[in-house]
Amino acid sequence: MKMSKEISESELKVSKIKEGTVIDHVKAGTALIVLEMLGITGLEGTVATLSLNVPSKRQEKKDIVKIEDRFLERTEINQIALISPNATINEIKDFKVVNKFDVELPEEVSGFPKCINPKCITNAREPSMQTYYVKSIEPLKIRCKYCNTDMERNDVIKQLTKYQGLTQ
Ligand SMILES: [Zn+2]
Repeated sequence: MKMSKEISESELKVSKIKEGTVIDHVKAGTALIVLEMLGITGLEGTVATLSLNVPSKRQEKKDIVKIEDRFLERTEINQIALISPNATINEIKDFKVVNKFDVELPEEVSGFPKCINPKCITNAREPSMQTYYVKSIEPLKIRCKYCNTDMERNDVIKQLTKYQGLTQ
């Protein structure tokens, strides 16, 4: 069988998007987790491209997530920072990067996830009052402001997705 149109190697490797978000330097192996956190299943029609475990100068291996026609909210960027603290967000308009920045974990994160302590006061009231101090980024450690319970990256992943956590 012969292909009617030749596709260049670079076209196969890098599919440019016209408008949307490219999340680069995603922690290797976590792109599917990031996608699920963003509520993207594919069924809603979102056009997305994932690259898993590609070689990277900066971090040996990385994932890349490209999402067309979607720009991320601050809370979504904070969620990505919890899972993948070195990720870079590129906002694309008309095939050009119009905004590029590293995700950043604030000293305090609030609104998510649920505290793993079932007796914590935040589990008895409105979830918006959940607040955590970020004690360490790599490995991740966040401490509940209300009950001092520590949570790790896998605790967060289990809350936000169906995944049961990372091996590292
Ligand atoms: Zn708590």
